[in-house]
Amino acid sequence: MTIEEKETGWRRQTQLVRGGTRRSQWQETDEAIFMTSGFVYDRAEDAEAAFKNEIDRFIYSRYGNPTVEMFQDRLCLIEGAEACRATASGMAAVFASLACQVKAGQRVVASRALFGSCAYILTDILPGYGIETVLVDGTDLNQWRDALRKPTAAVFLETPSNPGLEIIDLPAVCALAHESGAQVIVDNVFATPLLQHPLELGADIVVYSATKHIDGQGRCMGGAILGSQAFIDILSPFYRHTGPSLSPFNAWIFLKGLETMEIRVREHCANAAKIADFLTGQSAISRVLYPGLTSHPQHELAKKQMSGFGTVVCLDLGGSKERAFRFMNALQLVDISNNLGDTKSLATHPATTTHQRLSAEARAELGITDGFVRLSIGLEDVEDLKDDIAQSLTKAG
Ligand SMILES: *Cc1c(COP(=O)(O)O)cnc(C)c1O
Repeated sequence: MTIEEKETGWRRQTQLVRGGTRRSQWQETDEAIFMTSGFVYDRAEDAEAAFKNEIDRFIYSRYGNPTVEMFQDRLCLIEGAEACRATASGMAAVFASLACQVKAGQRVVASRALFGSCAYILTDILPGYGIETVLVDGTDLNQWRDALRKPTAAVFLETPSNPGLEIIDLPAVCALAHESGAQVIVDNVFATPLLQHPLELGADIVVYSATKHIDGQGRCMGGAILGSQAFIDILSPFYRHTGPSLSPFNAWIFLKGLETMEIRVREHCANAAKIADFLTGQSAISRVLYPGLTSHPQHELAKKQMSGFGTVVCLDLGGSKERAFRFMNALQLVDISNNLGDTKSLATHPATTTHQRLSAEARAELGITDGFVRLSIGLEDVEDLKDDIAQSLTKAG
């Protein structure tokens, strides 16, 4: 990491545009893409010293790469983290953050409202390695307290959760976790690096899918892990030897994404709030979920720990899959897709896609009924979005 002191003093928008930028000997204006797998040495002795960690230099892009490092440094500035490792996807970040530190015989406590692949890691992969995992209702502090009575190595949670938009009290859960010796890992994808700062609220590690709002334009996959230098030192050998590294090309796309992220996310949130209000007035919809609505069960908590309410709005078409499908199939502007945080608005039916692996009971506990539709609100004109949603609701009956 090579962040200069002046950069830490910049205001956030300046950090988003310029943080971490380093020029090569050719003095390019823009961040250069170092599309190279390896790096060369003038002398065999230099290679030896580099592998012994006696000199700090790039060796091989699986370990580190200048373009990837620029992305990591810029994210560190935004997140207020000491160190970062960028990964090939959000899931690579989630897995590496757990797998590098949790050992057989240890225990992980997690909230049950999780992105489908995160749930798979916790309920299928880690137990296979001899790690006990316990899932709790993340909105119930008593369940966290009970589960954390036994010594625990890591706590994993997502807030707001995908797709149920549950909000978890970060300072309270972090305090309980730390009493039990656990490191707290927060999947902050829905909040984005802009709307919630888990490290300031007590968390130890933050993970992102950069695929979502950091790219923000639906182009490529990536992720990131941020935390203390001590934690990244534990992660680094795991990262170096298991290979979840990010492509320099994708890192460059994400650097461009960060430059416009604040402007985009602000508009996404404004559109999402308008769509949430619009949906609230529709009789065909039995439930509208958006953390910014006073009807959201954790609205007050969202106000306390987030500076904006996010880009995703969910609705329930009376629990009926047929109506949900009729609604989605009638959409003419909004696309059916499972991505989110894109400039284009997207509709997802979690019960049959991202969360189809869960049992019907597990889905019911999370409020993911067959009529539940997740809308990732994009940057189209909000009036066109309302028109499209209105005509689809009419066709859904
Ligand atoms: C998309 C997503 C992930 C996984 O990220 P990928 O980049 O798709 O691997 C993890 N957590 C949440 C909350 C997500 O929305």
